[in-house]
Amino acid sequence: MKFYNSMSRGIEEFTPLEGKKVGLYTCGPTVYNYAHIGNFRAYIFEDILRRTLAFSGYDVTQVMNLTDVDDKTIRGAREAGLSLNDYTRTYKESFFEDLKTLRIEPAEHYPAATDHIPEMIALIERLFEKGVAYQSEDGSVYFNVATYHAYGRLAHLDVSGLRSGARVAQDEYDKENLADFALWKAWDEDDGDVGWESPWGRGRPGWHIECSAMSITYLGESFDIHTGGVDNLFPHHENEIAQTEAATGKPFVSTWLHCEHLRVNGKKMSKSLGNFFTLRDLIEKGYTGREIRYVLLSAHYRQELNFTLPALEGVRTTLARLDEYRTRLTDAAAGAPGDVPEWAAAGRDRFRAGVEEDLGVPQALAALFDMVHQGNRALDAGEVDGPAAAAALAVLDEMDRVLSLTPEGAAEGPGDDVTALLAERATARSEKRFADCDRIRDQLATMGWEVRDTPDGQKVRARP
Ligand code: AMP
Ligand code: ZN
Repeated sequence: MKFYNSMSRGIEEFTPLEGKKVGLYTCGPTVYNYAHIGNFRAYIFEDILRRTLAFSGYDVTQVMNLTDVDDKTIRGAREAGLSLNDYTRTYKESFFEDLKTLRIEPAEHYPAATDHIPEMIALIERLFEKGVAYQSEDGSVYFNVATYHAYGRLAHLDVSGLRSGARVAQDEYDKENLADFALWKAWDEDDGDVGWESPWGRGRPGWHIECSAMSITYLGESFDIHTGGVDNLFPHHENEIAQTEAATGKPFVSTWLHCEHLRVNGKKMSKSLGNFFTLRDLIEKGYTGREIRYVLLSAHYRQELNFTLPALEGVRTTLARLDEYRTRLTDAAAGAPGDVPEWAAAGRDRFRAGVEEDLGVPQALAALFDMVHQGNRALDAGEVDGPAAAAALAVLDEMDRVLSLTPEGAAEGPGDDVTALLAERATARSEKRFADCDRIRDQLATMGWEVRDTPDGQKVRARP
């Protein structure tokens, strides 16, 4: 497995710190609004990453934080006249619904910043002990960037112009405003009732310390992979590295991966530019989660991706081809899987090589669709017997562990209600109550499942 490490700016062979275990930290949403599909490009890239790692035999522990206290959430709550918790709750809930719609596999942990304030305070105390944090006149606590020898290594910053003692209070700022950054922000009127007691008085954590504290809590002081969108690289990740390594004296993260932006007419899709679609906007227009998923995963994560509605429209044809291939194989499959046909084996190998080379999804998709093309030809020619079709179907399922593009029901498999009806129908069949069999078949059809009687008993599949 190879990745492009933003730290070294080169492709590297991936080796976890411990055996096959992978600790993965993915910067999650700031829950001050509905996430837009630009944000979801980042989460889908991370989903492909986690699924590819699992596909390649790694045991992944993924942590995705929820930033529920920072400059933006506090401003949003104040403007809405709500408590911080009431304000962020809506967006947390909708975030999890959206993840489901996009078939993003759940992370192992979703820590919220407001549940980890004591860990953040403890980390800042360690930074005081190391002599790299200080409290300014206004009561806020800053990290002294000049004390950290490797500051700027990730973002390749020129730190020569750094003015000693200059400070920046905002969570987000440009490279031109390079300065000591806030670890703990003293309470002020704009914070309203948001605040926690600390050794430095009432206040709240800076955004960067949140991710350092939560990643240490769940993954330890050194772990394997940390990701985010390219806009997270500076200042967020640069500051995370500085404060974590200064506190622990250990290397923080082995591999940094950053995905490029989703753009609209050449500009980054963002809330501030107002050029965004939320997932809900697109679902209301009649697009499905898997169509949107396909668009967002189809480009390589380090390439910018321009979003257009016609491109999303075009995905329907692509997915229909894939569904048709699956249906044909399902129809042809019989008995236990036999030898994998040559075209499917070649597709599988190319697919694996694609994703294992820095998540080469475009190469993997090319392998998939070449396989579909050749498989269809073999099916047309009547060259695929039951066991061969079953084996080719298993290859398709294997690829789908990474892509997750099968029709809705097929991805999850039949639920308990479907299984119960099938059992009822099997009994009806054995008792030759054929009218009941047909009635249950129709009922299953309305639930999105198609049942067929084969020599091996009943088979169901999701109706595309
Ligand atoms: P935020 O909620 O602003 O903290 O962003 C959440 C995640 O979405 C971060 O990893 C960002 O880097 C990422 N992100 C924001 N805008 C875009 C975009 N247009 N394309 C891709 N990723 C983005
Ligand atoms: Zn973060």
